[in-house]
Amino acid sequence: MTPRPTRLRPLSDLELESYDHLDPDLARKVRVAKIPLLPGRYVGVTLGPLVVLQTDEPVDGTSALLAHELVHVRQWQQQGPLRFVTGYLGAFASELWRCRRWNQAYRAIPAEVEARSEATRWAQRRHRRHDHEPD
Ligand SMILES: [Zn+2]
Repeated sequence: MTPRPTRLRPLSDLELESYDHLDPDLARKVRVAKIPLLPGRYVGVTLGPLVVLQTDEPVDGTSALLAHELVHVRQWQQQGPLRFVTGYLGAFASELWRCRRWNQAYRAIPAEVEARSEATRWAQRRHRRHDHEPD
C-alpha cells in the first residue's frame, strides 16, 4: 500500500526516522496539513508544530521542503511563538527596508538562513546514507 498524504497527519515512521535533525519527541507532535492555496508564493508555512504545505510532498522522508519546515518547528519551540514571530517579521521588515526586494529580504531572515543550511546538511547526510541505493 502506497502511503498517501492526507489533509492533517502526523509524520510517518519513515519520516520520523529520516528527519533526524529534529528531536524525536518534538517530531512526534508535528502535524502536516495540505492547503492548496497559501498566500503569495509560499509553498510551506510553519505555525508551531503545525506544518502547512501547498504541495503534495512525499511522505516517505524524502521531502526537502518538509525537512526545511521542520527546522522552523524547532525554532518555534526554542523561541516561543512571540519571539519567533516578532524576530522573523522584524528581520524581514528591516531587510526589506534595506534592500527593497521581497525575495532577497525573505532569504536573509536568520530563521530562513538556518532552515536552509540545516535542510541542506540533512539532504547531504541522507544522500551519503543512500548513495549505494537508486533514488
Ligand atoms: Zn522557511
